[in-house]
Parts: sequence; structure tokens; C-alpha cells
Amino acid sequence: MMRNLTRKRILVAGGAGFLGSHLCERLLQEGHEVLCADNFFTGTKENIAALSRHPHFELLRHDVAQPLHVEVDESYNFACPASPLHYQHDPVQTLKTSVLGAMNLLDLAKRLGAKIFQASTSEVYGDPAIHPQPEEYWGNVNPIGLRSCYDEGKRCAETLFFDTWRTQHVRIKVGRIFNTYGPRMHPNDGRVVSNFIVQALTNQPLTIYGDGSQTRSFCYVDDLIEVIHRLMQSNDTIIGPINIGNPAEYKIIELAEQILALTGSCSKIISNPLPSDDPKQRRPDIAKAKALLGWEPQVPLETGLNKTIAYFDSVLSKGSALKIPLKDFVLYTLRD
Ligand code: NAD
Ligand code: UDP
Repeated sequence: MMRNLTRKRILVAGGAGFLGSHLCERLLQEGHEVLCADNFFTGTKENIAALSRHPHFELLRHDVAQPLHVEVDESYNFACPASPLHYQHDPVQTLKTSVLGAMNLLDLAKRLGAKIFQASTSEVYGDPAIHPQPEEYWGNVNPIGLRSCYDEGKRCAETLFFDTWRTQHVRIKVGRIFNTYGPRMHPNDGRVVSNFIVQALTNQPLTIYGDGSQTRSFCYVDDLIEVIHRLMQSNDTIIGPINIGNPAEYKIIELAEQILALTGSCSKIISNPLPSDDPKQRRPDIAKAKALLGWEPQVPLETGLNKTIAYFDSVLSKGSALKIPLKDFVLYTLRD
């Protein structure tokens, strides 16, 4: 039988994670074949359970720090723990994942002549001295702190992508993702939106780190997948790095209050120590995404939070969510 020529074979490394699973779903909906490669460090089989039955979905247990020999037309690199709690658990492994993962996936893209997307991050700006952050800003990153394994790993991955583009002409797309939330975040993920929602729904205190005056800008997952799709479809001159996120900025205390109001929870708000190097403010300048991709976020925080609360409500009601698969994690983020 002849293969459908518009159908591509697409590799999603980290496809069993929060963002990767949404991307796999979108690619399957568009009729592509998806190869999900994941080592299940933070991803879960539940995230891709519904996709596993799809005839065009294939799962490969694989660590991107090792070379990968597969045949695909395009690839996306999402493989890396994203929560500070998880990426600080084994910082050297996090660096290997970012750096060796980027090298291995770039080698594969080069061999196949395939286009490749890199999930970079707002963390490349560190604790930013310029606000909001445009792509031209080089950042303010501590090279030896607790967050460095992630920040510097992702910065090095960007360097590898751009050097490979310059010297080997591999077709690259680099998106700098700002805080994104939504269904399929792990209940014990440790990031602020999932923590606050799970705490509110289980009547535990909401744990604000520091005084809650630090800011973040939260993007709903559907908006993020849409802009990644547009970036990947855009012509080869648009390579990034391009900020992708929602510029609506909130103090962490405001987020806590909004989640309490939306869940109707009686939980208290308590203050825990502020982790070291925690960025004080963060908001993307998305002028480039608007101009080059005609994109801006559509989902307001309240709408996205309501969908995410409904998701966690259903997960928690099944009773399995609070068993902690990542039970050996130490709160490295709370140590100096
Ligand atoms: P996640 O932890 O849910 O997903 C990461 C996935 O990568 C998991 O399935 C995990 O098992 C897998 N993984 C980790 N190490 C691996 C390895 N060595 N080999 C193969 N698979 C591995 O996190 P997420 O929020 O879905 O983030 C996905 C990507 O997007 C990450 O690269 C992250 O740095 C980036 N990002 C996310 C955000 C966000 O707010 N969600 C913000 C900035 C950047
Ligand atoms: N945070 C918090 N309570 C939590 C988890 C996080 O106050 O239970 C704060 C954290 O200190 C940071 C912000 O929320 O200032 C966002 O944290 P997250 O880990 O979600 O992402 P990142 O720091 O990587 O942006």
C-alpha cells in the first residue's frame, strides 16, 4: 500500500510528559505518525494511555542522552524534567539530558535532513534584569547555583542548535517556553499551578515560597501547542529563538488567591522559604510571535485554571494521584 505523502513520521522526545503528550495528540489528530521516545523520568503511561490505542502511535522507552537510530521526517525535543524539584534531583543527569540529548537529536536530524524543534525555556533569561524579556536579552544566569543544571543545560542546547544550523545547515526551530500549565501536569510535579490546585482541592495549606510577590506569566497548554505548531509550519527562515508564552503577569500570591476562589477551598495560605535564585519577575515580550506567526494567547487565566482544576478534581477522585512515584525527591529547592 502506498504511504500517504502528507502524513509525516514525527519523533516527539519527552512525549509522555505534560507538554509532549498534548503535542503527540495534536500531531495524531492531524493525521501524522508519532514516535514517542521517553525514559519516564517524569512522564507517565497514563498521559499517553488514550494515544497508545491509535494505529499511528508508537512508544519507545529511550533516554535521549543515548544516540537514537530511527527514521523520521521531523522531530521535537521535549525530553527534560521541567519542574525545579525534579531537575534538581539529579542535576548532572539533567545536564546530560539537555546537552547530550540535544547533540544526539541534532545528529539524527542531520542524518535524516529533518526539521527539529527545541523546547527551550524562559530560564535562559535567569533572574532577568530587563522586563518584560525580549529575545535579544542575554539573561542573568548563575552558572553554579541550584537552578544552573537546567538553565545552563538549556542555554548550551540553544548554542548546539544554532552552531549546528550555522555549520551543518540543519533546519532548526527554537521556542523559549514561559510557564505553561494545564491538564496532565503531574499532581506531584512540584510546580506552582499544580501544587496550589492539588493543595486547594485536598484542603491542605497553599505553600507560597517567600512572600509571594515574585511574578510569573502563565500560558494555557492549548495556546502553547498552537504556537509551536505555527512555528514548525513556518518557513525555514524563521528559526527563533522565539518567546512563547502568555504576557499576562501575576504575583504568586494573586495566583494562590485566584485558585482558592475558583475551587471554593477553605485552605490557608502559608509561607515557606524562598528557593535560591528564584527569579523575581518573568513576562515574555511576544512581539515576534505576533508578527512572525500571527499568534497570541486566547485562553484567559481563569478559563485555563477552571479546566485544570476540573482535570485534577477527576484525577484526585480516582484516588491514585497522591501516591508519589517520585517519592525519593528531596526538596533541594528549599536548601541553600
Ligand atoms: P515534563 O516533566 O512533564 O515532561 C518531560 C518529559 O521528558 C517527561 O516525559 C520525562 O519522562 C521525559 N524525559 C526526561 N528526561 C529524559 C531523558 N533523558 N530521555 C528521554 N525522556 C526524558 O515537563 P513539561 O512541562 O512537559 O516540559 C517539556 C519540555 O518543555 C521540557 O524540555 C521543558 O524544559 C520545556 N519547558 C516547559 C515549560 C513549562 O512550563 N511546562 C517551560 C519551559 C520549558
Ligand atoms: N512556588 C510557590 N509555591 C509552590 C511552588 C512554587 O510559591 O508550591 C513559586 C516558586 O518559588 C516560583 C513560582 O512559584 O517563584 C513558579 O515556580 P515553578 O516551580 O512553577 O516554576 P519556575 O520557578 O521554574 O518558574
